[in-house]
Amino acid sequence: MPSPHETPGRSDELLVIAGGGGFIAGSLVRYFHDRGFTRIRAVDKKPLPDWYQVTPGVENLCLDLTNEEYCRRVCEGATEVYNLAADMGGMGFIERFRVQCLRSVLINTHMIEAAWRAGVRRYFYSSSACAYNTTLQQDPQVRALKESDAYPAMAERGYGWEKLVSEMFCQEYWAERGLPTAIARFHNVYGPHGTWDGGREKAPAAICRKVIEAKDQGIDGIEIWGDGSQTRSFMYIDDCTLGIDRIMHCDRLIATPVNLGSSELVSINTLVDYIEQIGGVKLRRTYDLGAPKGVAGRNSDNTFIQQVLGWEPRTPLRDGLAKTYAWIQSQYEDRKAGKRTVRDTI
Ligand code: NAD
Repeated sequence: MPSPHETPGRSDELLVIAGGGGFIAGSLVRYFHDRGFTRIRAVDKKPLPDWYQVTPGVENLCLDLTNEEYCRRVCEGATEVYNLAADMGGMGFIERFRVQCLRSVLINTHMIEAAWRAGVRRYFYSSSACAYNTTLQQDPQVRALKESDAYPAMAERGYGWEKLVSEMFCQEYWAERGLPTAIARFHNVYGPHGTWDGGREKAPAAICRKVIEAKDQGIDGIEIWGDGSQTRSFMYIDDCTLGIDRIMHCDRLIATPVNLGSSELVSINTLVDYIEQIGGVKLRRTYDLGAPKGVAGRNSDNTFIQQVLGWEPRTPLRDGLAKTYAWIQSQYEDRKAGKRTVRDTI
């Protein structure tokens, strides 16, 4: 079911997008800008030169949204609020920095209160597949996760529990205070304009970078985290932004967590195969069994989103990877030439 926002037009409703200096929110800002929204306020705690994308005509604010006062300021006059701000990264980050992940609860706690006080029409929260019960994800041949699998809860420590608690805020603000909220559980998102180096990057970007580096430096091997048999699905960024729009504007999904992910399950070894094919190279693989690797298997069951929206993320992994690889290649070359590139550190 398409959302009314999808059709390009002109709207001067104020959209507030938190985390706008990051990967997904930066792409969401561009998505709404391209559909004619003339008043977008993007907010991130990073200084502006470190934002992954800066879209012309957008009001960009650098504020730390764990601060309640700042949240009130950014929600003033907003029609819709999208909260995608969180301290997060790939497995290398979320297994090591649980306190930082947990502290993101402050962002959603203050943002949703500020949005409600400001009388916004709708509020979006970016949850994660890490909210699911980890005991259901111990086999690479995993059964895809459906929305009811979050409870009884045994989420990823730190990051996953923060997501579950913030989801509950969204449900209770609707039940008790009448604020229409939308909650999407993202499954691994990848694509251009995301982090690809520095410690927060996720598997698709990290493997693209390693293949590009190996080719450039004449290295014949690649190191893989875990034994390569762990399975995941990966959603291309354009499916993610479209899905956010559709979920946010669907009345049947108010305060109802829904999967937003691809159901194309692959092992990390297959992911490496695809990226090697794109790079036109075959590398000797070594496996770091001590490295962070997360659950053994995870896939998105898309029955519910299909039922409600008649849609699910569909970009084939190979197609999305080809675009991502080309972008990381250009970033790699820019960095070598001493130009400014997307970079995030731990
Ligand atoms: P990202 O790290 O690229 O973007 C998050 C942004 O939030 C960063 O720019 C960061 O500086 C900002 N931020 C952190 N703390 C802040 C604060 N206190 N105040 C203001 N800004 C702050 O991450 P992303 O991949 O774009 O993720 C966006 C959202 O989607 C997050 O909530 C994340 O948990 C969720 N998510 C992402 C994925 C994925 O695969 N990328 C998967 C599941 C869920």
